[in-house]
Amino acid sequence: LMPDLEKKQELGRHAWYLFHTVLSRYPDEPSSDQQEKLQQYINLFAEFYPCGECSYHFQELIKKNPIQYKSRQTAALWGCHIHNLVNTHLKKPTYDCSNILEDYDCGCGDYDEFNKG
Ligand code: FAD
Repeated sequence: LMPDLEKKQELGRHAWYLFHTVLSRYPDEPSSDQQEKLQQYINLFAEFYPCGECSYHFQELIKKNPIQYKSRQTAALWGCHIHNLVNTHLKKPTYDCSNILEDYDCGCGDYDEFNKG
């Protein structure tokens, strides 16, 4: 199949949206089980990301910039930072991470009530 840049970018926008929204809803005080699972989730997201070049490059970035899984704030800021590294690699502008949790409010309301573990 021929590469299709439009589709590759569309995939990227949707994937980043889910990525940041998951991190902005990660628990404030995650259990050790949740910390372990976040690392697995992100590593599998990277490994199975459908664009091969992106997957390879993102796994290398994670090795150099380890996943921050101790709290919602640190996880969401890590996610913003690593996306900025991809932006820089692609010569795109850097994103302001200071309101990352508000920027990715999913509107899911009482999700935390069901996520106490
Ligand atoms: P995107 O980068 O898709 O961002 C979407 C929106 O998110 C932006 O409009 C902005 O509102 C917001 N945003 C931007 N930066 C941040 C940030 N740091 N934190 C939070 N929100 C932000 N493409 C390639 O060509 N080569 C690659 O190697 C490559 N690797 C990728 C790896 C991953 C894991 C993913 C998910 C995508 C990758 N892509 C890659 C796709 C690329 O990152 C973009 O998604 C695509 O080029 C579309 O770019 P965009 O300008 O629409 O904005």
